[in-house]
Amino acid sequence: MKGLDLKKLVRPLVLKIAPYRSARDDFEDFEAQNIFLDANENPFENGYNRYPDPQQRKLKRKLAEIKSVNADQILLGNGSDEVLDLIFRAFCEPSQDEVMLLPPTYGMYEVLAKLNDISIQEVSLNEEFQLDIKAIKARVSTKTKIIFVCSPNNPSGNALPLKEIESLFDFFDGLVVLDEAYVDFSEQEGGLSVLNKFPRLIVCQTLSKAYGLAGIRLGMCFANAAIISVLNTIKPPYNINVLTQSVAFDGLEDTPAIEQQIQLIVSERIRMATAFSTLKFVIKVFKSDANFLLIKVDDANKRYDALVKQGVVVRNRSMLHNCESTLRITIGTPEENNKLMSICKNLDQ
Ligand SMILES: *Cc1c(COP(=O)(O)O)cnc(C)c1O
Repeated sequence: MKGLDLKKLVRPLVLKIAPYRSARDDFEDFEAQNIFLDANENPFENGYNRYPDPQQRKLKRKLAEIKSVNADQILLGNGSDEVLDLIFRAFCEPSQDEVMLLPPTYGMYEVLAKLNDISIQEVSLNEEFQLDIKAIKARVSTKTKIIFVCSPNNPSGNALPLKEIESLFDFFDGLVVLDEAYVDFSEQEGGLSVLNKFPRLIVCQTLSKAYGLAGIRLGMCFANAAIISVLNTIKPPYNINVLTQSVAFDGLEDTPAIEQQIQLIVSERIRMATAFSTLKFVIKVFKSDANFLLIKVDDANKRYDALVKQGVVVRNRSMLHNCESTLRITIGTPEENNKLMSICKNLDQ
């Protein structure tokens, strides 16, 4: 297994960029009683008159503790979408490098690849929506910069065994981006446990799903400190605003409440999976380690429209690879789930 060769991985132009240094970069203790006349802010305090900490030190210290990583192994973004965009722009040379996607998967990887003029190699997940290691190995080329792996996978819901993800490094010299947006709902071990073992592994997580904070936009990226340092160089200096940093910090304080919600969502997922499988119009309920279920139905458009008419909005995923006639349904509150199920039972006549 090859180690980390930044010269080979990072775009040459990015390696040459010196980071923009903001007025606030030099102050480790952000709450010190200094007189700040360095950033042309309005001096009258209202809670938001100051620029946010560009390094998000306080928030990262807390995250480092919760996630058992070092603070210099964390990059924060305005949602995972910004994190993924930074990864593309740091490592993928437009119209030269390629990335590998494993459909059916999260749509943003493709959008960002196209936006950055990076060609896409696709290797489908197998019938069980698991990695086809042989096919991946056969398709990887010297141009492949990143393999995007999503576990638990959106839209299928299943987790991919960590050992298999690790095995990509046996033959692949580039970066593996492991998107773990749904990891908190899964029993399987996540990538953070092996972060120090694989210097070319980048793990992405988010506060948008389990933590119930989709509205504040906070994406997290965990990797080798050298990789994080490259991403820090190119990120917009004040990408995480004061409100987001503060709400995220408070949200991370209350992990027992989150744990309880996760447990309830998982038990509801199990209950709903059983209930769906008894319906006549449901052909298959796919195994899920996330907070949603992918179900195969007799006629996805017909069932989607019928649900909308009853005031329930789900996601029709039928156009995705190997997802013919499927709906993706998020697990709601127990009351919402009961309502959905009684509507579905009526559709089942
Ligand atoms: C929802 C989701 C995200 C979260 O994106 P944010 O921009 O952090 O809200 C990331 N990856 C996958 C696969 C998702 O389903």
